[in-house]
Amino acid sequence: MIIQCAWCKKIVGEKEPLQDKRVTSTICPECFKKLKKEIEKRKREEKKHSSGKTQNAGQKSLKE
Ligand SMILES: [Zn+2]
Repeated sequence: MIIQCAWCKKIVGEKEPLQDKRVTSTICPECFKKLKKEIEKRKREEKKHSSGKTQNAGQKSLKE
């Protein structure tokens, strides 16, 4: 099977059975890093926006 990054569509590798050419999605380390940064950035922005009404902050982040 072909292992492809679902974010950048890069072929990351292959896994058994090799004759099976179906694609399985994963996330490559580069995209994982980017995604992590995005999440951290969003968290910081959320904190900025929700300053003053902190009661709802926990519930909001659970949904996303
Ligand atoms: Zn990627």
